[in-house]
Amino acid sequence: MNDTDNYISIASLNQYSYCPHRCWRMFCAGEFADNQYTIEGTSLHDSVHTLSEINRDETWQVRAIWLKSERYKLIGKSDLIEAADGEIYPVEYKRGKKGEWDNDELQVCAQALCLEEMTGKTIATGYVYYAQSHQRQKVEISEELRQEAIATILAIQTLLETGKMPPANYGKRCRGCSLYAQCLPQVAEKVRRYQEAS
Ligand code: SF4
Repeated sequence: MNDTDNYISIASLNQYSYCPHRCWRMFCAGEFADNQYTIEGTSLHDSVHTLSEINRDETWQVRAIWLKSERYKLIGKSDLIEAADGEIYPVEYKRGKKGEWDNDELQVCAQALCLEEMTGKTIATGYVYYAQSHQRQKVEISEELRQEAIATILAIQTLLETGKMPPANYGKRCRGCSLYAQCLPQVAEKVRRYQEAS
């Protein structure tokens, strides 16, 4: 057994925050399907996931290194880690522009937790780079965000340990979900209501 076999992936925080049922399908049931958004996302990450290290002006940049936290049992590959002015911070690449769901910040925070453990330094900020708008969004690694990330990590660990399927709740986010055809949340909701009524 590998010592990271019981670790959760940093990317799973994003999935759980988007929809716990989707997270269960991906990480417990092993399901995955692509749609336009996931293909664009994968293609973007493929383009930045080449191990490299450069110094640009006064900024040190390293791409595609693995981040790991033994404390939180977290692991994942970074898009970009930068160090400048005595600070080190993660930069997560995302397709599109800032969306309705605030799950990108959680992923950056999870990377910061790993980086803190690996470097012994406190990480105060991180960034999300949105490819469509070519903009970096600053993420403050606040106490509130840390607590939210830790609560999400614990929830995912429980999900993986118990395998208990969270309900599929139909909502606006289902329209952009690549697992819609497998999930059919409206049907699941009708069945649930029928069972509750009988
Ligand atoms: S279709 Fe909706 S309920 Fe089903 S996994 Fe996707 S987001 Fe979750």
